[in-house]
Amino acid sequence: AKQVVAVVGRPNVGKSTLFNRVAGKRISIVEDHPGVTRDRIYAEVEWLNYNFTLIDTGGIEPESKETILSQMRRQAEIAIETANVIIFMVDGREGLTGTDREVASMLRKANKPVILAINKVDTKEHSPYYYDFFELGMESMVETSATAAYNIGDLLDEVVKHF
Ligand code: GDP
Ligand code: MG
Repeated sequence: AKQVVAVVGRPNVGKSTLFNRVAGKRISIVEDHPGVTRDRIYAEVEWLNYNFTLIDTGGIEPESKETILSQMRRQAEIAIETANVIIFMVDGREGLTGTDREVASMLRKANKPVILAINKVDTKEHSPYYYDFFELGMESMVETSATAAYNIGDLLDEVVKHF
């Protein structure tokens, strides 16, 4: 079966930017009818000799009145159920938040490979919060810039190691 990679993370960390960059034009447009998200959340990706489906869990529509935390929990559950490898994205400019810690603890219990993408690191210097992120206990960490396309290849290399 085809490998599935899911991107999970708080709103605004850069999930969709990464998704669009990695997906290029190979995005499957989800049917626009009631009950189906209008967002483009699935993409078929080719990286080196690997093919996989990438899911942007942030594009899954929230249930009405859902808090950020419960939305995040639902996204993490979907990722845990469907993905072979999970990219957990955090914001290298904002640093670690309580929601990040909650999501990390859900993901750690899932026994699936998780790559921490510390995004918005647009220069060669570490995020000022880089060492704080070790607390999340993720097996690998990559600093990325989704907008500047920095280290995206390194991130995908880490992902495909687990296929
Ligand atoms: P999402 O809510 O996690 O899907 O986040 P988006 O992909 O929509 O990005 C949120 C905002 O962060 C947008 O204004 C992006 O342009 C910006 N952004 C995303 N990645 C980066 C990055 O690597 N560096 C910087 N400086 N901004 C970024
Ligand atoms: Mg998004």
